Amino acid sequence: MSESRAERPAPVSGRAEPLDPVSRRAETQDPVSGRVEPQDPVSGRAEPPAPVSGRAEPPAPVSGRAEPPDQGGRAKPPAPLVLVSGAGVAGPAFAWWARRRGLRPVVVEAAAGPRDGGQSVDLRGAGRTVIARMGLEDAVRREGTGERGVLFTDATGRRRAAIPLEAFARFGGEGPTAELEILRGRLAGLLYEATRDTVEYRFGERIAEVEDGAGRDGRARVRLTGGAVYEADAVVIADGIGSATRDLVFGPRDAAGRPRLHPLGLSLAYLTVERRPGDGPWAVWQNAPGGRSVVLRPDNAGTTRALLSFLGPPCLRERDPAGRRALLRERFADVGGAAPRVLAELDSAAEFYAEDVGQVRMDTYSRGRSVLLGDAAYCPSPISGMGTSLALVGAYVLAGELAAHPGDHAAAFARYEVRMRPYADRAQRLPPGAPRLANPRTRTGIRLLHTAVRAATRPPLPALAARLVSPPADAITLPDYPEP
Ligand SMILES: Cc1cc2nc3c(=O)[nH]c(=O)nc-3n(C[C@H](O)[C@H](O)[C@H](O)COP(=O)(O)OP(=O)(O)OC[C@H]3O[C@@H](n4cnc5c(N)ncnc54)[C@H](O)[C@@H]3O)c2cc1C
Repeated sequence: MSESRAERPAPVSGRAEPLDPVSRRAETQDPVSGRVEPQDPVSGRAEPPAPVSGRAEPPAPVSGRAEPPDQGGRAKPPAPLVLVSGAGVAGPAFAWWARRRGLRPVVVEAAAGPRDGGQSVDLRGAGRTVIARMGLEDAVRREGTGERGVLFTDATGRRRAAIPLEAFARFGGEGPTAELEILRGRLAGLLYEATRDTVEYRFGERIAEVEDGAGRDGRARVRLTGGAVYEADAVVIADGIGSATRDLVFGPRDAAGRPRLHPLGLSLAYLTVERRPGDGPWAVWQNAPGGRSVVLRPDNAGTTRALLSFLGPPCLRERDPAGRRALLRERFADVGGAAPRVLAELDSAAEFYAEDVGQVRMDTYSRGRSVLLGDAAYCPSPISGMGTSLALVGAYVLAGELAAHPGDHAAAFARYEVRMRPYADRAQRLPPGAPRLANPRTRTGIRLLHTAVRAATRPPLPALAARLVSPPADAITLPDYPEP
């Protein structure tokens, strides 16, 4: 659903040595022992980068190379190899915790480098705790956008209502602006930077095939689009809302024939536009009849983040990027205010990301050795303000359960699902009337929305309003997991 012209190239240094993937040729020549490992990535030693040419890997020269023996003379068991699809938020966060728990993650990302797009995302509740436990809270705070709250304006720019950051905080809740906000691309960047020296990343590749149980000792044999083959103890599918890997492993529809993605009747596009002198520290939300909205948000990168959204059945997924831009131009042609400025930059915007908003609902999070994580598993939609926190908490819990159940991926996946499902289900329960109430179809509806916002931010109503709109970010107790 997105395209990017600002993608950074894959890093070429400073990474741990790639864990020799096993090519099909290698398999026939010299089957790799399940007990031996090519290289202990724990050292984090910088080695030449993994080949990402798209050609099959050379035969794995690993047979017979065992870990150094422990004091009893026994070979150290190899760290379980976990292949992760997707280097957004969930994938790198999982890789960080997996390394911490003694697992060996390899991350495969379809894009040519870490993706920089998106607006501010919220870090709330347990998600914020996970970031703090990773030692990244200060970095996130430093990178915060400093958004002060949301201003509702009309097309002339006149202020109609406002939700300041503090409006909900004093009642223990969080409104549309969370206290800890960061550009989605910067968060993904921080997580990547925290892992790139110790985790192998393979950019520009995808998982092409997963053969469960076809590897040694029942491991999954996973083939990448570039031809490399891994024998994985677990496969973590963290490649976002439209996950093709999820469709590959679980099929595109559930047992009742329903697609995995449940549309919420809203489509949106994010792009980065030039900052203008009038752009301040507030998000400015302009409603237009027909269920359309234009939102401008501050960033800390010298630009402004724009959002165009409109109510209606899914219509973006089926279009190519040019088709999506054409549709947005058509839909917003008669909207004044900030719309012409955003439309004028549609073609030149460095990052353009568009999606039909929906929720991913899975009747199970795992199949065989594969397990879903983040938006691919339980996308709650951007309306919930919970997608990033869910991804971070899921990453923490999944890595912890894998470490707590060595050699038993099925038990680990089952515990992960028991812990995460109630949290994810609650995050998917949206405030009543969402997304229609925030995107009225008529001028009268827009006036009513502004009146309701004014009322909801004045005591004594905020306590109730805070309960209604604050995401259930703390509705999980983070377990403590064993360190290796
Ligand atoms: C460019 C972009 C901009 C976004 N902007 C916003 C925003 O402004 N507000 C908001 O609330 N949410 C936004 N999101 C979604 C938000 O990041 C997620 O809801 C949340 O952080 C959970 O993250 P995730 O890692 O599960 O998924 P994502 O952050 O979506 O990451 C998925 C990753 O998987 C990669 N990928 C996709 N298909 C494959 C494949 N077949 N093989 C390998 N890799 C693949 C993608 O390139 C991406 O890097 C955005 C996502 C993206 C990708």
